[in-house]
Amino acid sequence: MQDVSVDVVTIGAGGGAYPAAFRLARSGRQVVMTDPKGVMSGNCLAEGCVPSKAVREVAQLYRRVRGGARMGLHGQLSAEYSGALAHKSWVQELRYRQHAEELEALEPRLRLITGVARLVDSHTALVEGPQGSWRISARSVIVASGSDITVPKLPGAELCITSRDLFALTPQVRSVPDTLLVIGAGYIGLEAAGILQTFGAQVEVLEMEDQILPGMDPDFAALLAANLDPQITVRLGSKVRSVEATPEGRRVTYLRDGKVNTAEAQQVLLAVGRHPVLPTGLAEAGVEVEAGRPRVNHSLQTSVPHIYAPGDVNGRSMLFHSAVRQSLVAADCIAAGDRAVDHFDFGAVPTTIFTFPEAAYVGLLRGEAHLRGIPVEEAAYSFEEDSRAQILGEMSGELRLFFAPGSLRLLGGWVVGVDAAQLIGEIGTAVAAGLTAHQLARFPDQHPMAQEGVGKAARRLV
Ligand code: ADP
Repeated sequence: MQDVSVDVVTIGAGGGAYPAAFRLARSGRQVVMTDPKGVMSGNCLAEGCVPSKAVREVAQLYRRVRGGARMGLHGQLSAEYSGALAHKSWVQELRYRQHAEELEALEPRLRLITGVARLVDSHTALVEGPQGSWRISARSVIVASGSDITVPKLPGAELCITSRDLFALTPQVRSVPDTLLVIGAGYIGLEAAGILQTFGAQVEVLEMEDQILPGMDPDFAALLAANLDPQITVRLGSKVRSVEATPEGRRVTYLRDGKVNTAEAQQVLLAVGRHPVLPTGLAEAGVEVEAGRPRVNHSLQTSVPHIYAPGDVNGRSMLFHSAVRQSLVAADCIAAGDRAVDHFDFGAVPTTIFTFPEAAYVGLLRGEAHLRGIPVEEAAYSFEEDSRAQILGEMSGELRLFFAPGSLRLLGGWVVGVDAAQLIGEIGTAVAAGLTAHQLARFPDQHPMAQEGVGKAARRLV
């Protein structure tokens, strides 16, 4: 057992951990990160956002070129899934190399120990890994152990594939099934459905709730549902009861409208969500856990002020960019001697569903405003009138902004359609900065880009 004493130890080296580790090491502190992966970036780069978007981007290019006959694009076009996977792995490896160089530049002030960490008290972590064991004492602790794929207690769950099997560095699934059933119409299920359908699979999605994207704004979800590629069949109100193996693949039994139905496919993708992963020893460290998550304040402090829990582990906003900002908030507070000097705004995190078309939102939307009795004034812009959407020939969907009546301060917005993932960044910045419709209306948004919709929508109110 090696004994190490540092200023800060992180449990995990993903988006919730390494931004803080780097900021604190750069400001002269001794920092140790721990992660069984032995590399930084957590599940995002290992099997999540980056690899899935690399494959998705190939699918997007293919769709655009395939639909380009009116633009004079002809010829023998085919989409090789193996090529898309090779591209994905190239991006992953490139980023791992860059991260390794970034880490090397800060060693030995910042170190990454490969292994699983557990807490034995509020200042001490024990790490077991292939290179041995460590006892790490630290003044402050960052618990950023992230999340994992939820596998429900469903007979036959082990017969299903998951997003890990699609997007890991060495994915289990290397070819596109002819037919695919997706369990769950959340963002992971819908994104995978869109990608694999583009590469040739016939896809059906089963969702037990009565809307896609359960938990998200119902009108936003309905708008995406109306604009989704109709080649993907989505069955709502369909609760899967079991999965069985057949000679050809899989049979899924599900309950819909009180009736038992079956559906068959070569493969079944289980995409029912992700859940926080907690390290052992939170109780020994005195950290309070509620509903399987460490409770945190807006400075990401747990019930023990020098122990922080940024990122997926707190279950409040399970997105990589959210984890990064939460991590930096924790770093600021640690640098200030564990005082709550910085805060995270859980209400203004842009979220994108990378379907075809993309759908994205940020801040307060119609449904939550109604539920909380908050009046909002809406301004919409249809992509039918948008020059970029017309240039791309992708004119479905809309951009919609929600303002506080009177002040016309921007509270939130959604975009379903062209460039939604990019647009929501600008809208989110405006929400975070508290900009008003008057200010948005006076900004010269670029032409001929879809950003024009932001100013145009705002000008409808002023
Ligand atoms: P986030 O974006 O919130 O940081 P991720 O899930 O991407 O979340 O990353 C969390 C990382 O934490 C993963 O790489 C995982 O391997 C690591 N991890 C989980 N449990 C432990 C543990 N007990 N000790 C060290 N690392 C852990």
